[in-house]
Amino acid sequence: MSVMVGTGRGALAGVLIKNAEALETLHKVTTLVFDKTGTLTEGKPKITMFADLRILRALECWRLAASLESISEHPLAKAFTQEITGRKVTLSAVTEFRSHTGKGITGNIGEYAVALGNRNFMEELGIELGIASEKTEAWGNHGMTTVFLAANKQLVYVFGIEDPLKSTTAEAIAQLKQAGLRLVMLTGDNQTTANAVARELPLDEVIAEVLPDQKRAVIERLQRDNQLVAMAGDGINDAPALAQANVGIAMGTGTDIAIQSASITLVKGDLRALLRALKLSHATMRNIRQNLFFAFVYNLIGVPIAAGVLYPWFGLLLSPMLASAAMTFSSVSVITNALRLRKLSL
Ligand code: ADP
Ligand code: MG
Repeated sequence: MSVMVGTGRGALAGVLIKNAEALETLHKVTTLVFDKTGTLTEGKPKITMFADLRILRALECWRLAASLESISEHPLAKAFTQEITGRKVTLSAVTEFRSHTGKGITGNIGEYAVALGNRNFMEELGIELGIASEKTEAWGNHGMTTVFLAANKQLVYVFGIEDPLKSTTAEAIAQLKQAGLRLVMLTGDNQTTANAVARELPLDEVIAEVLPDQKRAVIERLQRDNQLVAMAGDGINDAPALAQANVGIAMGTGTDIAIQSASITLVKGDLRALLRALKLSHATMRNIRQNLFFAFVYNLIGVPIAAGVLYPWFGLLLSPMLASAAMTFSSVSVITNALRLRKLSL
């Protein structure tokens, strides 16, 4: 009864709860893990910096990058496809497109074999970065993600992509910290960028440059350290970690697969709703305990009387009619108490 009413109250507060277990576990959570892009940040990346290596014409570079990203489903891809309109870039056909999860994308466009991705990916492909490699730190220090573009194994252009924190993130994180939780950022982005984004937040740990399958392993490691872990994320790459966590929390603004893998969804992707969810979990569990108390007390009094156990001492015997009335009253008090959750202020 409490869980049912609590779930309904959550829905009104923008917290969708898929299973009762999540509501019961959430209040015991000791560690909260957050994905960066789309969870802590807005997930609406914009290209704000670029470095032209003057090997290909700039417009040509934008064409290659945007054509390749137009097929990608990665959140960063939006930054490129948005730019097309402003820059009068026309898209070209891509063959042999491949997405290398957590690293970048590759494909063939005309006479070019194109690769687009982070520094580790370029190094893996054996592409010489020269001093452009420093951009990862230089721009990363300002919280930007650096993406390198290579054509035929040669670096031709570098993009600096900005994705600011959601306006509500700082407040939510500060309050979660105050609630005594251990807070961890978990991202596939590079360490410098992750640190820069984390600077404004009271996080306990920043784990960066993790591939999607490693995200799940990090959650497992925390659980082995006797932590009860809730993970908040929005992407395909978060799905295995969301499923592994004791409570998976998806952003309603995120991908369907993240929402499916999680047991709680924050409808608007606002992390302050996570505080509401925690409060609701505490209140629901308290409510369940109160109900158990009511039920026990009625039974403790009612059963011995009904059974006539007390008769020899007190001459008390419960008539079946009164017994059933007491039973009903016990149920009614449980229901009334559970319904109080509806008025819980979140
Ligand atoms: P996050 O954990 O922040 O959601 P991902 O694991 O999805 O990040 O990606 C990690 C990094 O891989 C990105 O920061 C980016 O540098 C690179 N990357 C992945 N996919 C792409 C893409 N389609 N275009 C450009 N860069 C990409
Ligand atoms: Mg994400």
